[in-house]
Amino acid sequence: MTGTRKPAFSIAERSSIPIAGSNLCFPVNRIFCVGRNYAAHAREMGTDPDREPPFFFCKPADAIIAGAECSLAYPPRTEELHFEVELVVGLKSGGADIATGNALNHVYGAAVGIDFTRRDIQAAAKTTRRPWDMGKGFDGSAVIGEMVEFDAASLPQAGPITLSVNNEERQRGDLSDMIWSTAEVIAELSTYLSLRPGDIIFTGTPEGVGPVSAGDRMLAQAAGVPPLSILIE
Ligand code: MN
Repeated sequence: MTGTRKPAFSIAERSSIPIAGSNLCFPVNRIFCVGRNYAAHAREMGTDPDREPPFFFCKPADAIIAGAECSLAYPPRTEELHFEVELVVGLKSGGADIATGNALNHVYGAAVGIDFTRRDIQAAAKTTRRPWDMGKGFDGSAVIGEMVEFDAASLPQAGPITLSVNNEERQRGDLSDMIWSTAEVIAELSTYLSLRPGDIIFTGTPEGVGPVSAGDRMLAQAAGVPPLSILIE
């Protein structure tokens, strides 16, 4: 064990998400994302939206930009930066093999976020059967609005989720359209690994994903949580 050793150098503090109406923040441990969780988006990506088990991918925890008003520098190595508006849930506790009926008791709160994707890199990875990481896990790829604390009974599970670019609506879905509910997503993910406090989950995007360019202003909204404004620089 190396528990008595001091770090040889310092690294950045962990990412966090501001909690609305509070001076607290949600400390982020890991970022998990659900692949396809709305039928119409699965269809637009060329796959069958049958209720096969959800699949997951990760972003680095320091990929987060968080707050009510954010800016994102257009990332390198892409000419196809896509938005995916999603409900993001944050866990205050965890464990393995969590029962669906108990899953929402592990949730601290929720926010609206955008799973930014270098779609050209992701598409090449799919074609060549290589990992998605460089398409999904770049700096600033997880932009998240302020979080609201919810208990298991009050967590938003229905209501609109929308995204507009330059005041033009591009994505609109309803949280009740998720193929796998937030509770089912948490339960399934906890069969792969032990979930921990501070883990967050992007729960999937409705149809209408598309590209943005430098200078675009985006507004992401989901029922029950504060809106998120983003400027692409
Ligand atoms: Mn996504």
